[in-house]
Amino acid sequence: MEPGHILVIDDQELIRNLIIRQLTRQSHEVIGVGSGAEGLALLRAQPFDLLLLDMIMPDMDGRAVLTEIKADPQLPDLPVVVLSGDTDIEIVVACITLGAEDYLFKPFNPLLLKARVSVSLAKKHLRDQERRQRADLERQVAERAAALERSEERYALAARGANDGLWDWDLLSDRVFLSSRWKNMLGYNDAEIGDAPAEWLDRIHPDDQELFTVRLTAHFRQLLSYFEHEYRIRHRSGAYRWVLCRGMAVWDASGRATRIAGSQTDITERRAAEEQMQYDALHDLLTGLPNRALFLDRLDRAIAIARRQPERRFAVLFLDLDRFKTINDSLGHAAGDYLLTTIAQRIQACLRPNDTVARLGGDEFTILIEDVVDDQTVELITQRLQAAIAEPIMLGDHQSITTASIGITGSSLEYSSSAEMIRDADTAMYQAKMGGRARHSIFTPLMHVDAMAKLQLEGDLRMAMARGELLLHYQPIISLVSGRVSGFESLIRWQHPQRGLLYPGTFLDIAEETSLIIPITWWVLREACRQAYIWQREFPTEPPLSVNVNLSARIFTEPDVVAQIADALVESGLPPTSLKLELTEHSLIALSGDLSDTLQRIRDLGVQLCIDDFGTGYSSLSYLYNFPVNVLKIDRSFISRLSPPSGQSEIVQAIIALARTLNLDVVAEGIETEEQYQQLRNLQCGLGQGWLFAPGLDDVGVRALLAGA
Ligand code: C2E
Ligand code: CA
Ligand code: CA
Repeated sequence: MEPGHILVIDDQELIRNLIIRQLTRQSHEVIGVGSGAEGLALLRAQPFDLLLLDMIMPDMDGRAVLTEIKADPQLPDLPVVVLSGDTDIEIVVACITLGAEDYLFKPFNPLLLKARVSVSLAKKHLRDQERRQRADLERQVAERAAALERSEERYALAARGANDGLWDWDLLSDRVFLSSRWKNMLGYNDAEIGDAPAEWLDRIHPDDQELFTVRLTAHFRQLLSYFEHEYRIRHRSGAYRWVLCRGMAVWDASGRATRIAGSQTDITERRAAEEQMQYDALHDLLTGLPNRALFLDRLDRAIAIARRQPERRFAVLFLDLDRFKTINDSLGHAAGDYLLTTIAQRIQACLRPNDTVARLGGDEFTILIEDVVDDQTVELITQRLQAAIAEPIMLGDHQSITTASIGITGSSLEYSSSAEMIRDADTAMYQAKMGGRARHSIFTPLMHVDAMAKLQLEGDLRMAMARGELLLHYQPIISLVSGRVSGFESLIRWQHPQRGLLYPGTFLDIAEETSLIIPITWWVLREACRQAYIWQREFPTEPPLSVNVNLSARIFTEPDVVAQIADALVESGLPPTSLKLELTEHSLIALSGDLSDTLQRIRDLGVQLCIDDFGTGYSSLSYLYNFPVNVLKIDRSFISRLSPPSGQSEIVQAIIALARTLNLDVVAEGIETEEQYQQLRNLQCGLGQGWLFAPGLDDVGVRALLAGA
């Protein structure tokens, strides 16, 4: 064991001396003092390996000394062994908490004292050693890093030197020495380039020659303290390389330059990187199209030109893909990216070379159409764009059809800024989207008023749920065979404080755009289940009354769809078999095959699935085999065509036959006339709903209907 330098602080001289004696015998160097203040002074004056500290002392007790030591940045690691005449464990705990390393109860056994001291010293020794090693290691790492840096710098310098071609131009004899490296840089060997200055100057890119000469002359006249120029020079291959040339002249007594020498470096790669950076700053990385900054720049230029020459008309189109978010969320970002690049290419293919298309971000594109001859030009381009975008796209093994909503505004409205013009095109796009997607609309100043109203509506809708302004109406679904009510479809309504009862057509699109549709859908589901359970108890039928709930495709981006549905059922007490969830054919097509898994889990709850607006999606019917559905709801448009004079029943007939083959139920939507009803009965359509029977009813209406039936 290594001897240590030990301090003993104890007011009892007897004990102090005893300790000193015992430890000195073990060849430790020991100093004893009788008070805390003396001890602290000594500790601060010289290094100690260990302190033995008495707890109970008159002027300053052990705890106070310990606290001072631990607060002193000079004494952080000094191990302290506390000596206590008191066997109270509280004190020991307090000391350990304060940072003491060990303790000894007085009167102590000499062997124990020796042991404790040895252990504490050994620990300190180890700690010191560790700290030294760590510092050593850190120093070594730092040194090595510095050495590396130095050598790299040297290497970089050397490399740079080796890359430089050297030149030395004697202006008196007009001969120029060009080093081998200089010539190699251009793809020639030494013998292939002579010493005439023309060998150099004639190879400079025509566009760069003038500035080269200007700078050189300025330096000869001592207007520039040295010559430096970046320019292009022709390589043997015929391509131009970018070089950086630097030189310094020598002047004679009369101030005439007699000679100039310098270096030339190939900087083609650096220039390419710079150009790439510049390009990146102005382009969208994903599609390679111009970005917002570049678009605004071009648009501002077009606005400036039109101000001077109003006959140079142009138009701005704002294009937004319909339901892109659904595709992106359900098929994944890779599919979303692929879709965007494909659409970007298609848009570009519809335009003339001097038109500009930019991607603003997300699924938004802007198009600047210059030199618009008449209104027909823009109309034609818009139609071409819509058609090109609507071509099917394969996303994985899934065929998807995307449409776009387009807003248009033109220079005839005399804009003064690009931002204003884009804003108006955006407003028109929004109008088009609200009109039912896959449309375009041309901006009119009245739209501003409209846009403001929509904003207001969005704000109101956010509050509507909290204020309990949403409610459900229920349209009965009738068995066309028995004429009995088999269930209800819940239809959302909004009791707007100023505008009265609103139908979904006026607010659901906004809810979809803003994701408010997600909480709204969950609210509808819970409310409909709650209501249906009450009716079931009051009006028992066999099978029990069922309820249909319309689901937005957006909820399938939520992680807990199945759990939410299960919760709603459990909370309400409604049997799962009484709940039917409606998904439109459009949303099923837009969503992916991944959906079939979720749908299957919903089915496993016992819940039934319906395809709403069936027949309106222009898709193959193959998805019917992939999705576990129970019910087809024939879209209203087919039912309305059943009536004479057009009287087409083939589609309805075909859907009913298809459903029978697949063992699915059929509901005819929008039955308005007795005639349609009879025809559907003849076609053996099982179920129907429509104004002929009842519109959406409130609770009172439903009870009256059920009571009368
Ligand atoms: P939908 O699911 O096709 O609902 C049927 C729509 O047709 C309802 O309009 C209904 O009032 C109307 N209708 C019923 N019978 C007839 C008829 O004989 N003739 C005609 N011309 N129309 C009839 P509503 O209530 O305005 O709902 C419109 C759409 O809003 C619904 O179409 C549905 O897609 C959506 N929707 C309604 N409630 C909800 C909801 O709670 N959640 C979600 N996500 N969508 C809902
Ligand atoms: Ca429906
Ligand atoms: Ca429908």
